[in-house]
Amino acid sequence: MTNPQFADIILPLAVRGRFTYMIPEGMCGIVKPGVRVMVQFGGKNLYSGIVCNVHETAPDIRNVKSIITVSGDIPLINELQLKLWLWISEYYLCCEGEVMKAALPSEESFNTYKPRLESFIKLSGSYTEDELNAILDNLARAPRQQETLSAYIRLSGYSSGSAIVPVSRQFLLSEARSSSNILDALTGKGILSSESIMVSRIAEEGNFKEQVKELSEAQRIAYEAVVKQFAEKEIVLLHGVTSSGKTEIYIHLIEEQLKLGKQVLYMLPEIALTTQIILRLKKHFGAVTGVYHSRFSDPEKVEIWKRVADNDKVNGYRLILGVRSSLFLPFSNLGLIIIDEEHDGSYKQHDPAPRYHARDSAIMLAALHKAKTLLGSASPSVESYNNAVNGKYGLAVLKERYGLIRLPDIIIANTREAYRKKLMVSHFTPELLQAMDEALGKNEQIILFQNRRGFSPYIECSECGWIPVCIQCAVNLTYHKGIGKLVCHYCGYTTGMPSKCGNCHSSGMVTKGFGTEKIEDEIKIVFPAARVVRMDQDTTRNKNSFSKIIKAFEERRIDILIGTQMISKGLDFENLTVVGVLNADNLLNYPDFRAHERSFQLMEQVSGRAGRRQKQGKVVIQTSDPVNRIIRLVLRHDYEGMFRMQAEERVTFNYPPFCRMVKINIRHKDRALLNHFADILGRDLKEIFGKRILGPEYPLISQVQLWYIKTILIKIEREKPQGKAKQLIIDAIERVEKEKGASSLKIGVDVDPY
Ligand code: ADP
Ligand code: ZN
Ligand code: ZN
Repeated sequence: MTNPQFADIILPLAVRGRFTYMIPEGMCGIVKPGVRVMVQFGGKNLYSGIVCNVHETAPDIRNVKSIITVSGDIPLINELQLKLWLWISEYYLCCEGEVMKAALPSEESFNTYKPRLESFIKLSGSYTEDELNAILDNLARAPRQQETLSAYIRLSGYSSGSAIVPVSRQFLLSEARSSSNILDALTGKGILSSESIMVSRIAEEGNFKEQVKELSEAQRIAYEAVVKQFAEKEIVLLHGVTSSGKTEIYIHLIEEQLKLGKQVLYMLPEIALTTQIILRLKKHFGAVTGVYHSRFSDPEKVEIWKRVADNDKVNGYRLILGVRSSLFLPFSNLGLIIIDEEHDGSYKQHDPAPRYHARDSAIMLAALHKAKTLLGSASPSVESYNNAVNGKYGLAVLKERYGLIRLPDIIIANTREAYRKKLMVSHFTPELLQAMDEALGKNEQIILFQNRRGFSPYIECSECGWIPVCIQCAVNLTYHKGIGKLVCHYCGYTTGMPSKCGNCHSSGMVTKGFGTEKIEDEIKIVFPAARVVRMDQDTTRNKNSFSKIIKAFEERRIDILIGTQMISKGLDFENLTVVGVLNADNLLNYPDFRAHERSFQLMEQVSGRAGRRQKQGKVVIQTSDPVNRIIRLVLRHDYEGMFRMQAEERVTFNYPPFCRMVKINIRHKDRALLNHFADILGRDLKEIFGKRILGPEYPLISQVQLWYIKTILIKIEREKPQGKAKQLIIDAIERVEKEKGASSLKIGVDVDPY
């Protein structure tokens, strides 16, 4: 049998296709799928790519280049990962190179990764107890050396004749109140010796094991329903109201998988959530539990990566808690994937490509491992619930809160009426103020939710109505009082607060609307004695800021927590009884077909934070439209009602899940050229797809960072083979890209846009 001479390679570039290189003779048997290689591509540029295939078919080009170096014969990427990359690139119409870039920690860290070494002290040989006592006696004239040795014996848990146990040098020095000189004297005498041992750079906390909690009757029934349906179905949806104990059910399922020697991936939509859950998991599963998200440095990511790959070794991770990118870790042995808060839009990546949905990709990942997927939510996505209703997924239901605590009491506060009657205090209705007053009086805690950060979403001239907008984007600038600046939330452009109107030069610039920063300011005036903290993108830029705020709230060092959607999900606080939704209107009026579903989910989620132990919570929703259908449904916690209403609407107007949607974003810095090429693409697609094409048209935000944007929406019937339709879309895009003058045109594709 001859050796394969060619290798297909994925390069970290947004270029479609794989690239074939020759395998030099000396690398035969080393170059195989999953290994990293260095190659030349496009002129003199060197790239490091991943081999995905080796074969004997010479490519149809002259001068096939050879691989320059190979980083060893151990694959960095396993076969299942390569399959997942390919699936994502095919389904989401992106390049494998783009998936590779999203999947791998930054490349330099592979090269520069140095494990952190720590110095450990151990006995130079294995001594019997008598021998050791003799040594101690001999040290009588050097009492501090004697003390240090005794401390080592105590700390190492020495027992006669047993293996020599290392103790961290630093720990020993501090425990024995010893010094380096004293320790050096002991090693100089050959009694102790020193050794460098690789330690984790990821702090290990709470590695104590605790029995999993016993399930309540209702939880047991739901748990058994999950297990039973897994016998027949690959995917089960657990629809459990907030605080029903879904997490406890996950923990039971995880324990079973770990006992079987399987790996488990537990996905959450938000980094903030990992802080609480990781402690709950580590309590039960100890050191096999790892966490993964984008806040880790590249060297830390590399270490987690290695420990997932080494899942069967001593230091290995078998349970990973992570956000959407954890999908790309080198799992080899998954038994179960849990996707908590499965309805959450943060699972979809918007930009850059790959624009993948982590829930749907995780279902694919599970299938590759022949593992099961459990979706969990208090308010499932219309997509998933529809799959459960028509039998594609199993369904398990948990309708009661743990401890039979009642779901929170919802109060709808009419802002329009309160303004008219002059009862509003700043942005707060009398209903909300009263609920807050009562809670503070009982030393209970409060969360206020406002889905806008900054002080006010825009400022306006009171004389002529002029509004400052971004110089690069078609959006109003948001006023941030803390830094005294106007900021663009799309591109980050920042400018000073103008003292005069840019149009009529009057000095009457006023702030309009309100964000979390303004709420914080005003709540401090209304409740001067309360301890108020804000949690949003602006206050959580540092790596540990989430855990600090959450810990402070848990320890009751905060009375009122104000935040964006970041505080709406999954958090579990004992003493939190009141939740205020400051402005439901801007959720409900968002121009998107999912706006109503999302508003319901957000309100249901954020209310779910209230009254999780002992007491029933209270939720005050402020709105100018108290008879809104969605608000009425939230009032009754009527998920099924919301689902029926949304499903009906989406059938009527042909929206997902009853059709597939693909969105094409076309961008150009020249408006006229954008229109020109968008029209060409639109006409081309209409010839193929007819009425299924909507647009091209300007989206809500029609310019970002100087790029003008138009979108084309394609609605494809569910029953039609999607592979063929997607190929036709790619072909049409490639045709317009080849048009004369189209070189500075940018086209992005978003499959299943959110
Ligand atoms: P969910 O994930 O559905 O919102 P959790 O799993 O966070 O609910 O449960 C809510 C609270 O009730 C948590 O503090 C949890 O520890 C507690 N709890 C739930 N089930 C049990 C149980 N079987 N035994 C003891 N405590 C439980
Ligand atoms: Zn901007
Ligand atoms: Zn003006």
